[in-house]
Amino acid sequence: MKLYNTLTHQIEEFVPQNPDEVKIYTCGPTVYSYAHIGNFTSYTYWDLLIRVLRLNGYQEKRILNITDVGHLTSDADDGEDKMEKGARREGKTVWEVAQMYMDDFLENFHNLGLIEPAAICRATDFIEADKRLVEALDKAGYLYDTTDGLYFDTSKFPKYAEFARLDLENLRAGARVEFSDEKRNASDFVVWKWIRDGEDHAMQWEYRGRMGYPGWHLECSTIIHEQLGEPIDIHCGGVDHIPVHHTNEIAQSEGAFGKQMSKFWLHNNFITIDGQKISKSLGNVYYFSDLAEKGYSPMDYKMWLYQGHYQAERDFSFEQLAAAHARLMNYRNFAALRWQEIEKSDFAAERDEIMECLNSNLNSAGAFAVLDGVAKSGLAPSNEFLKFVDDAFGLEIGKTTPDISDELKQKIFERSAAKESKEYATADQLRDEILEQGIELLDSADGVKWALRIKNRVC
Ligand code: AMP
Ligand code: ZN
Repeated sequence: MKLYNTLTHQIEEFVPQNPDEVKIYTCGPTVYSYAHIGNFTSYTYWDLLIRVLRLNGYQEKRILNITDVGHLTSDADDGEDKMEKGARREGKTVWEVAQMYMDDFLENFHNLGLIEPAAICRATDFIEADKRLVEALDKAGYLYDTTDGLYFDTSKFPKYAEFARLDLENLRAGARVEFSDEKRNASDFVVWKWIRDGEDHAMQWEYRGRMGYPGWHLECSTIIHEQLGEPIDIHCGGVDHIPVHHTNEIAQSEGAFGKQMSKFWLHNNFITIDGQKISKSLGNVYYFSDLAEKGYSPMDYKMWLYQGHYQAERDFSFEQLAAAHARLMNYRNFAALRWQEIEKSDFAAERDEIMECLNSNLNSAGAFAVLDGVAKSGLAPSNEFLKFVDDAFGLEIGKTTPDISDELKQKIFERSAAKESKEYATADQLRDEILEQGIELLDSADGVKWALRIKNRVC
């Protein structure tokens, strides 16, 4: 299995440390507002990764975090706290806001049919462990105190710029001087924020006799240390995490524990909508509820995402979504052939080809090209093949095929018999009854074909 590793900037053979417990960490959402379809790009692509690992015989231990503290509106250390901002907007407490958007996130996660992680960890449940990490960093000489908080001195971590190939000279030149003259280097970042006199901040904990709260990057280093242990096998996130968030995670974890943080780093690219960045001001922020209003399911969105590659920037439009929907319905119709008197196939060669694509850095688009050929073959899929397809993509291609009851089968048989004996009225009535139950019978030159009907669409 080959994956592109951001750490080495190349495609590498993936070999886990322990095949029975592949340690994976995914940076999760900040729960201060509803997540839009772009936010789910990452979790959906990483679900494919988990599925492909499993098909290769590995078992994963995967942790996802929920950021409910410390993330400022800029990914650096200035701006407003996102949770406080959400609370003010909603007239709720930060804790209520966190719960509400976490519930919404998990509902969408579930509706997308994504595999549950071993644990979903809330940042605020790890405050004591955060403090221990801060102590370890301080002891190792990486921290300095300012009126704003305890900062990580990046000049003390010589390979700081390596991961993201940062140009520190330029970073220094472009730094905003007004930010803090206490900051020693432009790339230094806060690991623990102090609450200033008169500052209104609902989430705060006592540390070293003062009140404060963790910097945004800290939770990932802490949770990985507590839940998985370094080095982990794969760390995943969006491309926007490379220059700041993941760079800082590496400095913290490797600085504190003296071990490599993760062997592989995978990053998904962004989606644009009609060629533009997703943003409220452009009015192009779509949620799954917007897709549902137009008759599309989370699975249609997943199909659309997987038609492209996780490293490619993709442009979303409703025309594209319609095409993805049609393709998915075509696969489901193909899956329905298994209920008919048609020769079944395991498609063993094609299955190998699909695996080969997926093992080549998750080339899902290539895998679908093979599946298109399979769907056109005129053969029906065996249950084993459909299970493989659903295990690989999680698109419920075989699962949505109705397990046709004996009663319904009997009706289909009776309708054929009625037609044969030219009792057309009876045949038509039976056909309508069968349609009520979601199966459309299509008469053709080579016999009767069945088609699934879902939500009034012929699929
Ligand atoms: P935000 O709520 O805008 O801070 O986004 C949270 C995370 O969602 C970001 O760190 C990105 O990794 C991801 N994200 C946001 N917008 C997109 C997008 N258009 N496509 C893919 N991922 C996105
Ligand atoms: Zn993270």
